[in-house]
Amino acid sequence: MKKTLIFGHKKPDSDSVMSAIGLSYLKNQLGDNTEPRVLGTINKESTYALNYFNIEPPKYLNDVKLQLKDVNYHKGFFIKDTDSIYDGYQKMLKSELTGIPVCKSDGTFSGLVTIKDLSYTIINEDIEDLYTSYDNILKVLKGEEINRCSNDIVGKLVVAAYRSTTFMSNVNLERNHILIVGDRHSVIEYAVNSGVKLIILTGDSMIKDEHIEIAKQNNVNIIRTSFDAYRVSRLVALASYIKTMIRIYNPASFYDTDFVSDVIDLNNKLKHTNYPVLDKKNHVLGLLKITDLSEKHSKKVILVDHNEPLQSVDGLEEAEIQEIFDHHALGSITTTNPINFRNMAVGSTCTIVYTFFKETNIEIPKKIAGALLTGILSDTLILKSPTATPRDRVAVEELSRIAEVDYHEYGMNLLKSGTSLEGMTKEDVLYQDYKLFTINDKKFSIGQYFTMNFEEIEKEIDQYVEVLDKVAEANNFTLVALYVTDIIKDGSYVIYNTKGKNIIDIAYNKDVPEGYFIDGCLSRKKHIVPLIMPILEN
Ligand code: MN
Repeated sequence: MKKTLIFGHKKPDSDSVMSAIGLSYLKNQLGDNTEPRVLGTINKESTYALNYFNIEPPKYLNDVKLQLKDVNYHKGFFIKDTDSIYDGYQKMLKSELTGIPVCKSDGTFSGLVTIKDLSYTIINEDIEDLYTSYDNILKVLKGEEINRCSNDIVGKLVVAAYRSTTFMSNVNLERNHILIVGDRHSVIEYAVNSGVKLIILTGDSMIKDEHIEIAKQNNVNIIRTSFDAYRVSRLVALASYIKTMIRIYNPASFYDTDFVSDVIDLNNKLKHTNYPVLDKKNHVLGLLKITDLSEKHSKKVILVDHNEPLQSVDGLEEAEIQEIFDHHALGSITTTNPINFRNMAVGSTCTIVYTFFKETNIEIPKKIAGALLTGILSDTLILKSPTATPRDRVAVEELSRIAEVDYHEYGMNLLKSGTSLEGMTKEDVLYQDYKLFTINDKKFSIGQYFTMNFEEIEKEIDQYVEVLDKVAEANNFTLVALYVTDIIKDGSYVIYNTKGKNIIDIAYNKDVPEGYFIDGCLSRKKHIVPLIMPILEN
């Protein structure tokens, strides 16, 4: 069963990370094969929780674009360069393919042989030279080993078709000759004495022991076959190493990690039928027949804590969305198939996952309870956020019992861990959670930063204002505000660009100095944007 990946939005917050972990556990308990992932760096707060409950951090997911390896191309379809042309042809015939990649003994790519190359060579060229192995000839002629002196066979084909006497007087046998002959003992004797490379005995012909003895002394290879001289002549040319047939040493090829969309783009220009597929070390993996692309195996995904493609993984349009668990407003996502879409107006996605545990009667282990609790406490600011609902409270109460923590104390430590200003620049603080808004051609942006250490920002408030001024000027924003929210004090400190002062003053209906504390201001969505929007609208 193919693995379904579960992940939250880009720039993952704790709710995204923890709901993916919790839902993946639950799904796997129900018999699915899922894995939680994250679309970005796991933040300090989530790291604190993962360490606290000893949970393995989810792996990073870069994209869900289809790669060639997700396609049923002809994996394992290739041939060694020392196999015979005949083998290559048989393989193509059996798989109904018109080309075959050839690899060297170390598995690296050597070239592509196509049916076209094969027919050109066989029709156009008089094949009288063989370059192959003893074993290849044995195999192609379904022969029997009579005498083997060398493994490599390189030579010129000669057929004993004349009368023995004519043959012997007209044909000067040399050491590089490969003689095809029936039960003509005088010719055989002539050949073994001449020390030819190989004698192919046709029609199961007998050979005298004394001739075999001479052959051994003179290093003459002998193979016997039941095929007649005509069939041998036709087939033996196909015993040559397939590498002798390579006409295309640098064909267009792809890595198995290449994106299918790129393969399609390139093929629209090249219009080849066959492309060798290689790994990054240039080893041959198989052959892509371009029609293989019609059967794709989309990656299966479940989205949590978001439903907006822009916030989701790259290549989402190529993936198969199976389910969505979210508590945000509906976005613009579309699917081709009906899906399970769980949208609840609760404080966190972890609360929805908790609800799903209840519905399915799956027991919540301590670690998972800790994860889900973390997501809810984080998103609802320890249930203080106006987005918190009674459902969140019920979940927090049960989960903290299972996780064996005092939720208030744990939540405080969790939020503190996530809000430390350590190692952060002023820009980092502004852009941590930053949103851009447009109304009537006017643009404004609001950053929100949660910390319990406003003193640290206050010390440098003038420099913060400078940063905001710069951002406002560079982007032509009417207002750039940074709200520093302290959930313990249940409010936010506002810092704004110098030119934005009049808007802030109107919003709060008083003279608002830089760093002013606004009681009860916690949610950008509920407490900030609705105050600013109407001012810029008029
Ligand atoms: Mn959330």
